[in-house]
Amino acid sequence: MAATGQIDTVMHESRQFPPPADFSNRARIKSLAEYEAMWNQAAADLPKFWADLARDELHWFKPFEKALVWNEPYAQWFVGGQTNVSYNCLDAKLAEGHGDRLAFLWEGEPGDTRSLTYTELHREVCKFANVLKKLGIATGDRVSLYMPMTPELAIAMLACARIGAIHSVIFAGFSAEAIADRNHDSAAKLQITADYSWRRGKALPLKATVDEALAKSPTVEKCIVLRRGGKTGPPAPMQAGRDFWWHELMQDASPECSAVPLDSESTLYILYTSGSTGKPKGIKHTTAGYNLFSKKTFQWVFDHRDDDVYWCTADIGWVTGHTYVVYGPLSSGATVLMYEGAPNFPDESRFWQLIEKYKVTVFYTAPTAIRAFIKWGDQHVKKHDLSSLRLLGTVGEGINPEAWMWYHRVIGGERCPIVDTWWQTETGGIMMSPLPGAIATKPGSCTKPLPGIVPSIVGEDGKPVGVNQGGMLTIAHPWPGMLRGVWGDNARYKEIYWSKVPGKYLAGDNARCDEDGYYWIMGRIDDVLKVSGHRLSTIEIESALVSHPAVAEAAAVGRPDEIKGEAVAVFVTLKNVEPTEALRNELKLHVRKEIGAVGQPDDVRFAAALPKTRSGKIMRRLLRDIAAGKETVGDTTTLEDYTVLATLRGDEE
Ligand code: ATP
Ligand code: MG
Repeated sequence: MAATGQIDTVMHESRQFPPPADFSNRARIKSLAEYEAMWNQAAADLPKFWADLARDELHWFKPFEKALVWNEPYAQWFVGGQTNVSYNCLDAKLAEGHGDRLAFLWEGEPGDTRSLTYTELHREVCKFANVLKKLGIATGDRVSLYMPMTPELAIAMLACARIGAIHSVIFAGFSAEAIADRNHDSAAKLQITADYSWRRGKALPLKATVDEALAKSPTVEKCIVLRRGGKTGPPAPMQAGRDFWWHELMQDASPECSAVPLDSESTLYILYTSGSTGKPKGIKHTTAGYNLFSKKTFQWVFDHRDDDVYWCTADIGWVTGHTYVVYGPLSSGATVLMYEGAPNFPDESRFWQLIEKYKVTVFYTAPTAIRAFIKWGDQHVKKHDLSSLRLLGTVGEGINPEAWMWYHRVIGGERCPIVDTWWQTETGGIMMSPLPGAIATKPGSCTKPLPGIVPSIVGEDGKPVGVNQGGMLTIAHPWPGMLRGVWGDNARYKEIYWSKVPGKYLAGDNARCDEDGYYWIMGRIDDVLKVSGHRLSTIEIESALVSHPAVAEAAAVGRPDEIKGEAVAVFVTLKNVEPTEALRNELKLHVRKEIGAVGQPDDVRFAAALPKTRSGKIMRRLLRDIAAGKETVGDTTTLEDYTVLATLRGDEE
């Protein structure tokens, strides 16, 4: 008998791509057998597996006494130990003799460039840590960062980590309200920002937005301002006694600042989630466990090699930027490319130009970007030499198999493995992903759990479901990178993650596991469609739509229906094709042919764009409200473009 609340699988993907032999031969983990041995060894004694790694991989000012203390739902890892994340990212690299290696290669949107070796980065971080101390920041204080993608953002984070101050990075596109909310929630003492940031050729006045936010942030006493806009805009207004220029403070700061030994469980940062499913949550991460998890997952998944030029396109304002632009790569001694601006400035080939120029070897981006690249057309890619690439990755949403195939063919030249990485702000790092030298990929699947991670898919009754049956994705055992709570709200932490399925971390996503042990993320728990007694996943209907040559993006939601319970409503954006009644019918039939009658859309709505979070994820909950004809829609504070919503609502057919 099927478990209650199971989700029906309607899509089958049979394509498989084994790792190329020359890739596997040089990889850190070279075969499926090697991966399986590692995973099994870890699962046999998880605390021991992580403790052995922690001893080797982190610098300990004081060794830990116990790997794990688990008082559900609170985990403590490497208890009694003292370390420092900034030390592990910088001082440890200098001690290993990597001081001259490039830490960051940076390009601003206008084309200005910079680079920093590990020695140079260490010096800047030490100086800025002294600046923080001079402004009265101490261990445990919260520092709010609202900055462009510049090396100074990473420098500020590492300086906070060095003295044990807690950073809260806010994506530098959010409104003054959103900053004030987050500053209030974290009770931030210091704000760091820039005068301007560059986006699509425009200088955005960050400081002006911050001034508005600070008027409503009574806990913030001082503000440090990086000069980024130079002479391009009107000079940023500076409030005497409160506001200080970054470069003036740095002028006479000492480059000597030793890293403070911090308890393993000392808070490293607070980061608010994307808000795809509701009001953002202030996720708390701590020191040693997060550091170890970010470092090892970076090395395993991106198969890190010393000669790599690694580029993760995520903004540091998201967890992907925290873990895979800053902490994971730097604690591994990697060379990281950082780019400030938009992918389509001055034109749609900017990313490919950057890959060619910097000879990028590993490229990690989001499905929303890949869908935009497809829509913009292959001609932009073809102009550039991408032969330096050896590995590709995706994160943030499920990737529709046809978008995966395009990525594989056009960007990867059919030569680069693709790591589809499933994880969350809460998990701190990648939980499931192919290990590129070991695990054959299937388009649309994040394949298998990393060593030390034990997923379990359960039905509404909390019992594991069978092969290919969709259910709620949970994690059955604590892991070092897991969140340690929601900032200031234990009740919410327990309620969201630990109340529905006893003893297991509830991820909030649905998934199924196929006969080969491959995991397929099916969408959010809240987004499941209930059609004539069948529970259907969003991604399977969307992937069927995206496999039609006219479709660029699709979102499927349920709309109340008297007969079926819910009807399937889909929102579709097209690739330079005119929307017609004939196409609407064709799409309905196409879905029916691909996945069967139960998934056939009742409504097909053509849209110029879909509502997305600032991190580029489709906000299905807003579309659900629109499809149901509701007057007002839920929390829109993290919505990227308000006009999209207005257009969708006005577009009644
Ligand atoms: P909120 O929790 O506030 O609703 P959010 O869940 O969008 O926001 P994030 O932590 O940025 O915030 O996103 C994590 C989610 O992104 C996952 O739970 C999952 O739904 C989705 N996701 C991330 N990577 C993948 C992937 N490789 N495949 C499928 N889904 C993914
Ligand atoms: Mg979430």
